[in-house]
Amino acid sequence: MNEPASLPISLLAAVNARIANACAIARRAPSDVALIAVSKTKPAEAIVPLIGAGHRLFGENRVQEAQDKWPALREAHAGLELHLIGQLQSNKAEDAVRLFDCIHSLDRPSLLTALARAMDKAGRQVPLFVQVNIGDEPQKGGCALSDLPSLLVETHQAGLPVIGLMCVPPAGIEAAPFFALMAKLADDHGLAGRSMGMSDDFETAVMLGATHIRVGSALFGAR
Ligand SMILES: *Cc1c(COP(=O)(O)O)cnc(C)c1O
Repeated sequence: MNEPASLPISLLAAVNARIANACAIARRAPSDVALIAVSKTKPAEAIVPLIGAGHRLFGENRVQEAQDKWPALREAHAGLELHLIGQLQSNKAEDAVRLFDCIHSLDRPSLLTALARAMDKAGRQVPLFVQVNIGDEPQKGGCALSDLPSLLVETHQAGLPVIGLMCVPPAGIEAAPFFALMAKLADDHGLAGRSMGMSDDFETAVMLGATHIRVGSALFGAR
């Protein structure tokens, strides 16, 4: 898609203004909310204008796609930060640890083991969010609510740097109760990070304490 270079910049400004507005209502500092620009399926040409506008934090949901796109972008632009927001197979843990600055999708003990080994091998600690299946949906990724306490204990025992919780609430219904539940779970477990909120609901997430919002289509247009 060849869109005029000014378009993503105005979308970025609009999203930042909406974040600032939600923060004002919730009496939060906008600097406490990290906007992850989700660039999955978008080519480098769509990403570069955002970088040019000063945005540095991006998210991808597939290791392979990130591997294809981001080394060149990182080479050309200083200070980029790349987060993995999609499900991760254990056999891709090494690649993920090399490519990403943060992983939002730790959801099971076998992946924890693979990530611990990969971080050891790479000599690099990558901050992690534990993804929670907040709506208890059978088809959804994320750790079951009932398994969260034991998974967190195991991550601490393994010395992994868990900084928060992540969720994708059920589609088609009001997200606020799920965001509120996730904020409470994070509180209960003493975790400061809350990765929640997407294009359709990031203002609600911000008002309910999101520290990281993951916004794709509101910044890049429909996929
Ligand atoms: C694609 C994706 C997003 C962004 O979705 P939009 O609705 O385009 O903002 C956020 N989080 C995850 C996990 C995603 O896969």
